[in-house]
Order: sequence, then C-alpha cells, then structure tokens
Amino acid sequence: MGEGETKPKFTIDPNSAKFKLNEIVAKHYKEVQEAKDRGEKIGWCASNFPQEIFQTLGIKVCYPENQAAAIAARGAGQRLCEISEAEGYSNDICAYARISLAHMKTGETPEQNMPLPDFVLCCNNICNCMIKWYENIAKELNIPLILIDIPFNPDYEVSDAQVDYVKSQFLAAIEQLEEITGRKWSDEKFKEVMEISNRTSRAWLEATSYTRYTPSPLNGFDLLNHMAVAVCARGTVEAAEAFETLLEEYKKAVKEGTSTFRAEEKYRIMFEGIACWPHLRATATGLKSRGINMVATIYADAFGFIYDDFDGLIRAYCNVPNAMNLEHARDKREAIVNKTHAEGLLVHTNRSCKLWSGFMYEMSRQIGEDCGIPVTSFDGDQADPRNFSEAQYETRVQGLTEIMESNKGGKD
Ligand code: SF4
Repeated sequence: MGEGETKPKFTIDPNSAKFKLNEIVAKHYKEVQEAKDRGEKIGWCASNFPQEIFQTLGIKVCYPENQAAAIAARGAGQRLCEISEAEGYSNDICAYARISLAHMKTGETPEQNMPLPDFVLCCNNICNCMIKWYENIAKELNIPLILIDIPFNPDYEVSDAQVDYVKSQFLAAIEQLEEITGRKWSDEKFKEVMEISNRTSRAWLEATSYTRYTPSPLNGFDLLNHMAVAVCARGTVEAAEAFETLLEEYKKAVKEGTSTFRAEEKYRIMFEGIACWPHLRATATGLKSRGINMVATIYADAFGFIYDDFDGLIRAYCNVPNAMNLEHARDKREAIVNKTHAEGLLVHTNRSCKLWSGFMYEMSRQIGEDCGIPVTSFDGDQADPRNFSEAQYETRVQGLTEIMESNKGGKD
C-alpha cells in the first residue's frame, strides 16, 4: 500500500447473521439503559432464568454472566476481580461473580456497561454460588431478590413432582414481578412469546448441528459468541430471524465447501467448559495452528429450549446441563461426540466453576473410554486471566494432537 493510502475499513455485511446477532446484543443493552432512564424498574438475571417470562411481561433485564464474559474478553477481568477482592471477596469465588460485584460497586464499566438493577432474579439450576452472589447484590443495593430453587436432579428424567415444585415458585415470582414493575401477565402474550422462542431455538439447534459435516462449515468458537443472543433475546422475532439467517449461511457453506474455520480442518474435537475469555486468542490460535476445529460443545444444546406450554417451559429449565446428574450429562455429551465425529476431548478445568470442573474429571474419563477418544485438560478461568498458562495449554494441546494423529495413522 502506497504512502498516503488508507487501509479499507472492514465492514460486516448488514444482511449477515453476524451483523444481525451483534445488533441484537447492542440493542439489548441499549433498551435496558433506556428503560432505566425512563424510570422503569429493570432487573439483573441469571442466564438460565426463562427469558420468555420477561418478554411476556414487557420487563427489561440484563445478564451479569454475559456482561462479565464481555468484560473479560475485552481485557478488564483482572481489574474488576481485584476491586471485589479489595472489598473482601475471596479470589476463590467465581470470577463472573467478582466482576459483577465490582460493577455493582462502581456502577460504571466502560468495557461493557449496564445500569444497576432495581431487583434481581436468580435460579440455582446453574450453581449455588449464584445464590450468594445475588443475595449480596440484593443486600448491598437494598433491592428485592426473587430466588427460584431448581434442585439438582439425581434422576434421569424430570419428575412431575419437580415440575410442580418449580412451577409454583415461578407463578409466585410472576406475581412479585407484577407488583414490582406494575406490568401484567397475559396468557395470550405468553403463547406468542413461546412460539417465537421455539422458532428461535429450532433455528439455533439446527444451525449448531451443522458441525456434524466434515469439514464443518463453521469454526466452533463462533458459537461461543452467538450464544449471548440465545440467552438474552430468545423470545424475540429478531433473534429467530438472525438464527434462521445463520442456518441459511451454514447450508450454503456446506454446498459450496466453505467454512468460517480459516485453516485446513485436520482434527475435530469437543471443547468442554466455558471459554477462557481473557485468553480467547491464545486458546483459539493454539487449536487453529494445528488444524484443530472445535465441532462439539454442550453449549449448543444448552440454550435451545423446545416446549409446548408453561409446564413444558418449567421442565425444560429443570433439565439444563448444570442441574442434571453425571450419567445423563455424560450421555448427552457422548451423543454429541458421536454425531459430530469428534476425535478428541479438550477440557477447560475452570478454576471459577467448581461445580462444572469438579464432576468433569470422572465424566471426561468415561466419555474418553466410551467413545474411544483421547482426553486432555488445561487449567484456566473463564474471566480471571491470572489462572491460565499458555505454555501448559500449548503442551496439552500438542499432546492431544499427537494422539489424534497417531489414531488416524492407526486407522489408515
Ligand atoms: S461460571 Fe460456574 S460458578 Fe460461576 S456462575 Fe457460572 S456455573 Fe456458577
């Protein structure tokens, strides 16, 4: 490029799924801020709390887990963790919680801002750490906490008794939300939202299932970014349309033999756990440079909820990955490994997430044995950059690659 010439600015096609998905996330934060500015009551909410309930009531909420992930990916995880640690929160607590509690204290985080809440909504189908995190927010800000107890399920199926137990709590929560916000629940409106939510989930599940093709039309890391929309906007027409666009793009890519994975796909793996957001570049490059594509993740299924009525909605939210027993969780993952022909399993032993990482040692051992694939793990953290070593990551991924290579040789 000659002197004085400027580099052409990279623009995303406004008709592409990526553009539409980015717009939805930006609009989501903008609308919550606008609602707050108008004096409406807004909430903070756990990611596995049904978005459909707010959509039906017309209430604006935002998601601290999404915010923390965005902050960590933009390099501010450590700064915010340290603010909470200075307040006395232990460095052993989930980094999403530490980031969120720091934002609550400062009220301003330029890397991803969001307004402070007038109420918080928590459900423990994610983890119990979240209860304490939300209790502290409620206490510090002197605002109501609505807590739904969704017990860990020791059985394979969700029982009718569990649905009744959880449903009664949601009905009480809806009444509380009506009182707090002055909004009214409408069964008709819920039906509409449910249909849109199912449409969104069907498109999401079908699009993500395209990793079953070899080579895959997508880089699996794309899904980690797209899933924010499945969390915060599932019940909106825009989300349904964006995921339908994504699906069309993947269909076209399979036909034309193209992919968003910008390397030759030599190996296909399952990636287990939350992304290591502060080190996304290092973790993605460590795979791509060896021709390893991530084609399988439990996240794809985790945010696609298909149901027929309110009871079905409750049953679906009782059946999320962190609330199910080891055997059920293992079988779900093995089905994904088999469907996508993953050749190895890379486990992120996430220091923040004791629940997930704790039962992953035994689960990944069983998956490796049952599916006949090599398993390795690396130490990291979804949001605190201090808990990751690039050298260890490189060594583990190299070891995995060599076993996958040798397995390929064995099959030839
Ligand atoms: S990352 Fe793990 S510990 Fe943190 S909120 Fe999520 S499930 Fe809970």
